Parts: sequence; structure tokens; C-alpha cells
Amino acid sequence: MTTTADILAYDLDRLRRRVLPDTAGEVDDSIPQLADADPDLCGIALVTVNGEVRVSVDADVPFSIQSAVKPFLFALALHDTDRAALGRIGIEPTGEAFDAIKLETGTGRPPNPMVNAGAIVTSSLVEGDGVDGRIARIIAGLSAFAGRTLDIDDDVARSEHLLGDRNHALAHLMRSEGTLNVEADDAIAVYASACAVLVDAEALATMGATLAAGGVNPRSGERVVSRDVARDVISVTATCGVYDGSGRWMREVGVPAKSSVSGAIVLSVPGVLGAAVVSPPLDERGTSVRGHRASDALSADLGLHVFDV
Ligand code: GLN
Repeated sequence: MTTTADILAYDLDRLRRRVLPDTAGEVDDSIPQLADADPDLCGIALVTVNGEVRVSVDADVPFSIQSAVKPFLFALALHDTDRAALGRIGIEPTGEAFDAIKLETGTGRPPNPMVNAGAIVTSSLVEGDGVDGRIARIIAGLSAFAGRTLDIDDDVARSEHLLGDRNHALAHLMRSEGTLNVEADDAIAVYASACAVLVDAEALATMGATLAAGGVNPRSGERVVSRDVARDVISVTATCGVYDGSGRWMREVGVPAKSSVSGAIVLSVPGVLGAAVVSPPLDERGTSVRGHRASDALSADLGLHVFDV
């Protein structure tokens, strides 16, 4: 059994040096700002449910959160609707890519909150007046998860909004099905801003730790969402967080996690810790290559696999 002392003694810089030589994968090029990312960036952070923090070199380098925002958008939507959002989105894995043009058969709802269709809906369900109100609520909510004030990279938000043709297509499709309750372009404006929120590995690990601690930020002490919401979010992250690689991820790493095209992975081990790794080169499923390797090693070295007996 790994103890808190083992976790706190773990050398994240050594882990970083272990995965750094792996230069496999490609940096995302869906928007110019992501294409410009440094392929050698590699930051790792962990935050225990008692609020202890450990970081590697590069854990303070900012990047846009991209799809790692999805568990937290789901959490805010559940919180703001008193969990009525559960009726508006499926929770089954799709076995397909994050931007697949596919809705739930029979209902026309998004398949789950971890694919783009789902996050377009969750970001439209948070409380707030119009586009600006919902963006303000998302920033405030994500900041509470992170325990510090986060900002949007406006250039990234603009690019996501302009270049996200598949996201616009999904929003229009859901409008036609009656499963998206705001104007398609307004929904994409909010979703694009949510993807463009700047974090670093330390902030993202704190966000994961807030879920792992049952909805209370272990560093600030603030209750951000209820325990029930945190449990809902971690459950769906476990089954859908790595898209069509979720089954393999759960068997190998065994820790609920969400990947993103900026190369970030956020992990939550319930009752133990949150962690984050960021390194931009991605495998064919859009998961950070070094992030995956570092997550494998963290899980194995610290005995974090949730199904390991
Ligand atoms: N910017 C991305 C999109 O919506 C986020 C996707 C991701 O990180 N997988 O297309």
C-alpha cells in the first residue's frame, strides 16, 4: 500500500527525465496557437487530497486547457442544474474520436460529456446570462477548482471559434434534434472560450484533486461542487475520458483521466490525489505520448490503479 509519505517523496523530476527522451507523436495543428507549442515541454504535478503539492520542472508553464476542461464543465453543469443536466447528455462511451459527428441513437442527445458534442451542451447548461454570463460563470467555476484566478487566451478562443467547423456542425445538428437549447454560434463561442482557459500542470492537478477530494479544493478549502457531483464526474471520466482509448487506459493506467489536444492529461484518484501531465506530442487518439507514459509510471510506482487488489 502506498502511503502519503511515499507519494510526497516521489521524485517528479526524475519521472520527467525518464519520459523526456521519448520524442514520438505529433503536436496538434488544428489551430496555429497549438501548432506552435513546444514539443519538449513536459510538466508534471500532483496534489494530494490533503492539499500537499509536488511539481516537476515545467509545471508552471501555461497552456490552453482544451478538452481537459470537459470533466469540469460537466461538474459545473451538474452543479448549476441541480444534476438535471444528467437528463440532457448520455453517459456511454462512444468508441469514436472526440469530434465524431455522432449523437445518441434515439434521443439525439450527445453521447457523453467527454466528447465535443457533450461539452458543447454542458457549457450551454451552466448558469449565466447569455454568452458573456456563461463564460464568466465558467471562468469563476474553473478558478475555484484550481484555487486561483484563471484567464482565457483570447487568441486561442478566437481560433477555436473560427476554425472549429466540426464543432459548429455538431451544434447545428443538436439544434435540429432539439437537444441544444441555445443558438449554435453562441454555444460554440462559450465552448471555444472554455477550451482556451490557460492553466499549468500545477493548476490542472489541483482541479483533479478537487474532484478526488469529493468536490472540496484541498488547497483553498472551498467546496466547489457536491460530493455526488464529484462522484458522477469521476465515474464518467473513468469510462469516457480518453475517448476511443478509454478501455485500454483503464486497464493499463487504472486511473480516471481526461486527455486533451494541448497534450495535457488530468487524473483523479478518488480519496488520494489529483495529478496532471502536459507534453504536446500526441498519439493517433489525441493523447499525449509522454503524458501516457508518465501516467503509466505514476500509477505503477505509486500503486494507484483503482482496480488493483
Ligand atoms: N479544441 C478542441 C476541439 O474542440 C478540443 C479537443 C480536444 O482537446 N480533444 O476541437
